[in-house]
Amino acid sequence: MELQRVNTIHADNVIYLDNNATTMVAPEVVDAMLPCFTDLYGNASSMHTFGGQMGTRIAQARAQVAALIGAQPEEILFTSCGTESDNSAILSAIESQPEKRHFITTRVEHSAIIAMGTYLESKGYEVTWLGVDSQGQINMEELEAAIRKDTALVSIMHANNETGVLFPMEKIARLVKEKGCLFHTDAVQSVGKIPIDLATTPVDFLSLSGHKLHAPKGIGALYIRRGTRFVPFMRGGHQERGRRAGTENVPYIVGLGKACEMAKASITEEAHVSRLRDKLENALLARIPDSIVNGDRQNRLPNTTSIAIRAVEGEALLLMLDRHGICASSGSACTSGSLEPSHVLRAMGVPFTYAHGSLRFSLSRYTKEAEIDSVIEALPPIVEKLRALSPFA
Ligand code: PLP
Repeated sequence: MELQRVNTIHADNVIYLDNNATTMVAPEVVDAMLPCFTDLYGNASSMHTFGGQMGTRIAQARAQVAALIGAQPEEILFTSCGTESDNSAILSAIESQPEKRHFITTRVEHSAIIAMGTYLESKGYEVTWLGVDSQGQINMEELEAAIRKDTALVSIMHANNETGVLFPMEKIARLVKEKGCLFHTDAVQSVGKIPIDLATTPVDFLSLSGHKLHAPKGIGALYIRRGTRFVPFMRGGHQERGRRAGTENVPYIVGLGKACEMAKASITEEAHVSRLRDKLENALLARIPDSIVNGDRQNRLPNTTSIAIRAVEGEALLLMLDRHGICASSGSACTSGSLEPSHVLRAMGVPFTYAHGSLRFSLSRYTKEAEIDSVIEALPPIVEKLRALSPFA
């Protein structure tokens, strides 16, 4: 069989501003992982010392993850990704309280939550889908009114992946717990970018994902508050104290631990990230007529901006940026063959002609000022060119 030739674009040749999609694995994380592929390949469950020594490394990683979010090590369950963490929390809450048949979430969650809500509806559960205002915020009174005696779980994300808008996790957690209900937050986009302290924030479950914070894809964690019942959905082994069967993915667990340790040490550097994000945003708003920011500019992740540009197609912008080696995302999703503004922008009521031309730039601590300057130079003429062709301009 002939090997297919694939063009490889090297990372040195791109300006990578799509860090909410995935991040570069930090070189220190790679270094920490490598010995687990070569010398230290034992199975943590083995009786012999060679395998058993992997348990120490898993324990260290568990402590590193816990330290980043103000948790205790035994409250951390390693999973394969953010999606698994989200799914596990919801399924556990449902299975552990069979008498409760109501679930509350928002219309702007990641598909890992939306799909679970739809699945529960198909099984006869009632789901309350909370809306958001034009800033991307939920209404706390609406949430309070929605919580019932038979609510099994409230699941509300911490930071939105498209706009970066932050929900008031602490306030929400307190309200939900006062009502005697379980609370889960999808913090996949916020962990490592802003400080989180679960010692003072009463959430029951919190999801995080390695590849959003400079660890590899395929590793995540679920925080489960001590005392909160957890019903596993992966069975067949005693790993993770019987809460997730399957031989531990030691190299990736070690990588996640190292990435969390680095994120904790560098979380103050996020001021550098937000300065670059603001520079990019302000310059683009000034240079591109009829452009706006989607969502609340105050309560936001430091690394994200979602910019809506009237009368151009987001996909066309992405393709043109791609020719300049600039990686970003659009605010559209391909629904049955046509490009629709994303469910997040629709829920916020962003006008159609703006939502269609939405671009998300998401930075990281590796983003350089010169890269931001290149985007500021590249994008305005692209918009001008596309608008000259647009029937809506
Ligand atoms: N939740 C949010 C908010 C996300 O942004 C993502 C990924 O984009 C996920 C969950 C899923 O995480 P993973 O890719 O690790 O399954």
